[in-house]
This record gives sequence, structure tokens and C-alpha cells, in this order.
Amino acid sequence: MSKVSGNLFVIAAPSGAGKSSMIDALLKRHPQGSMQVSVSTTTRKPRPGEKEGEHYFFVDEKTFLEQVDKGNFYEYAKVFDHYYGTSRHVIEDTLASGVDVFLDIDWQGTRQVKAAYPGVHTVFILPPSNAELERRLRNRGQDSEEVIAKRMAKAQHEMSHYAEFSYLIVNEDFDKSVQQLEHIVMSQRLRRSKQQIRHREILQDLLAE
Ligand code: 5GP
Repeated sequence: MSKVSGNLFVIAAPSGAGKSSMIDALLKRHPQGSMQVSVSTTTRKPRPGEKEGEHYFFVDEKTFLEQVDKGNFYEYAKVFDHYYGTSRHVIEDTLASGVDVFLDIDWQGTRQVKAAYPGVHTVFILPPSNAELERRLRNRGQDSEEVIAKRMAKAQHEMSHYAEFSYLIVNEDFDKSVQQLEHIVMSQRLRRSKQQIRHREILQDLLAE
């Protein structure tokens, strides 16, 4: 079997839709390292327990902006006071090694990635209702009504961009949603363009007669 490059996916969702748990569950089902979440570069300081190269690549602002000038990022954004970016060479090296890559970014970053990498597959995860979204956001901790209202407003804004994505998953039943995400990922691996490379020898043998 010949080596086939990995596929790039953006997986976006409003906070509370269950995206991180779904990605974690999918990665657990595929432990052989055939898929991974991209590690971003940031100018913020590591939080306790965060590791260089595992959670983020931590750099200072000068280094980050130099990388921006060199065109080293597929996309980047300033979130609160810090820069965050998706490194072009990390993604390209990982894809070239045959691993599927998931980008965990918002709709603004997605627009930039679509422009830089037209072959990207974009997935948007929705909660089943606003009432359920609010319930999930409330269950996260003892946040004030004001914080909950802000999160709901942010989620509404994020969801208003769903039509810019190619695939939609409504996360009502967690296991079913993970399975749907898995189907999206697997179907890209079965594209003829990939299968032709993967099974070149079989195809040559089959058509040799
Ligand atoms: P945190 O500092 O809590 O890890 O992340 C803060 C925010 O930055 C989150 O909303 C996260 O999705 C966003 N973020 C993390 N990495 C990237 C990235 O590479 N690009 C963009 N555009 N946003 C990112």
C-alpha cells in the first residue's frame, strides 16, 4: 500500500455543543495515531500543566509577528490580549505523514483556512436546542446570570455562521454524534483520489489482463 496524505478538517461549534468531548471520543476510537488535533501557536503564557508542543507552541509576540510576516500561519487571530495561530508547516508535515488533522478554530479562522487550503473539510456541531445549550452552559459551573447571558449571545453569533460549513452535526445523542463525525472523516479517506494511491498495486493487477 502506498502512503496517502491525511485530510484536513475544521471542526467548529458554539461553546456548549460538546465539540471537545466528541473529538476526544473519536481520538480514543483511533488510538493508532491516524488522526490528531492541530497544536496552535500562541503568545499567551502556559497555564499550570500545559506542555510546550502538546497544548500549544508558546512564543513571544515578536516571534509570533515575525512568523505572520513570513506567511507561516494558515490563519491567526487576536483573542482577548493574545495571538493564536495555525502553523502552516506543522499542518503540512502532519498531513504529509498520512495523519488526518482537526483544527479547533472559530468561523473567522475557518474563512482564512478555506482560502489558504481549499481542500479542507468543514464541520459544524450544533446543540439540539437553545434550552439544551443553556442547560449545558449552566452545568459548567456557578457562573453569574450575566456570564451565562454573554455565553448564550456569543453562541448565537457563532451559530449564525453554520451555513459556511460543509457538514452539520446536531449533537442530541452523544454516541450517535461521535459516529457521525467518524463517518465524515472516514468517507474522505475512501475518496477515489486517495484510494487510487493507497491501492495502486491492486488496481494495476486488476487491470493488467
Ligand atoms: P485558550 O487561551 O483558552 O487556550 O484559548 C482561547 C481561545 O483561542 C479559544 O476560543 C480558542 O478556540 C482560540 N484559539 C486557540 N487556538 C487558536 C488558533 O490557532 N487560531 C484561532 N483563530 N483561535 C485559536
